[in-house]
Amino acid sequence: MSVLKVTDLHAAVDGHEILRGVDLEIASGEVHALMGPNGSGKSTLAHVLMGRDDYDVTAGSVTIDGEELLGLPTWQRAERGLFLAMQYPVEVPGVRLVDFLEAAIRGRGGEPNGLTVRLAAEAERLHVDEQFLTRGVNVEFSGGEQKRAETLQLAVLEPTFAILDEIDSGLDVDALRDVARRIEAMTTEDRLGVLAITHYARLLSELRADRVHILMGGRVVASGGPELADTLERTGYEGLAEDLGVDELAVEVPAEQEPEFADPTEFALPFEEPPRTT
Ligand code: ADP
Ligand code: MG
Repeated sequence: MSVLKVTDLHAAVDGHEILRGVDLEIASGEVHALMGPNGSGKSTLAHVLMGRDDYDVTAGSVTIDGEELLGLPTWQRAERGLFLAMQYPVEVPGVRLVDFLEAAIRGRGGEPNGLTVRLAAEAERLHVDEQFLTRGVNVEFSGGEQKRAETLQLAVLEPTFAILDEIDSGLDVDALRDVARRIEAMTTEDRLGVLAITHYARLLSELRADRVHILMGGRVVASGGPELADTLERTGYEGLAEDLGVDELAVEVPAEQEPEFADPTEFALPFEEPPRTT
């Protein structure tokens, strides 16, 4: 069994703190949901865990089985078993999904033996048309196709822990069912540990979430069982924040520069005012 442990994680962008002390502990086979209002720092957490370099980690630690991941480049975190399905997957024109996956497997010191056969099987299971395997990764994929393709990568790469950033957003019911069922099977058959960022209780019931955490203002303000998602459905984020005595829902990051709006009084009218007739 493995454990992904996040302790007192703080992260900032340009000196503005977004994550303000996040603690989480996920064991193999467990599904943890992370919910929270827009701008509360969910995607930031996902990116910081995976090692995206536009964030400065100012305190805390992230370990898998006691080994520190902070400071490692993204590929080494992947090598140690971490996978991120991004909220907005990146298009990689000119690189076929099959080659991308082969490189990823080799990059982790594996041998892509039988990859074509496995891909075909996964494509069938996830209802991904095989032509997507030989097109540029995510290039002109619809929202549903992207998320199915991300799930296919997850299934083929077999990480120990997967962070899913709104993998259910923009999916129709059929796609949601295919994606959720495949992931749920990984959690039971392969003991995949999951951190699922979502707004919807539907994904949580499909994935049989064990724990639900609520992020507000860059902190986990509540944790509980799946019933917490039902409470949230009733109260909304505003209501829950009020009950918990939390004032900050989203993290305020001031824009680099105030947008410049022209002073309307400085505009000259392009015509003369009509003479007054009173
Ligand atoms: P969520 O995923 O919960 O909606 P995000 O983590 O995307 O929230 O964003 C949290 C806050 O941090 C927002 O105010 C967002 O604008 C800001 N933020 C996130 N990433 C960056 C970045 N790379 N540069 C500047 N601001 C950022
Ligand atoms: Mg987000």
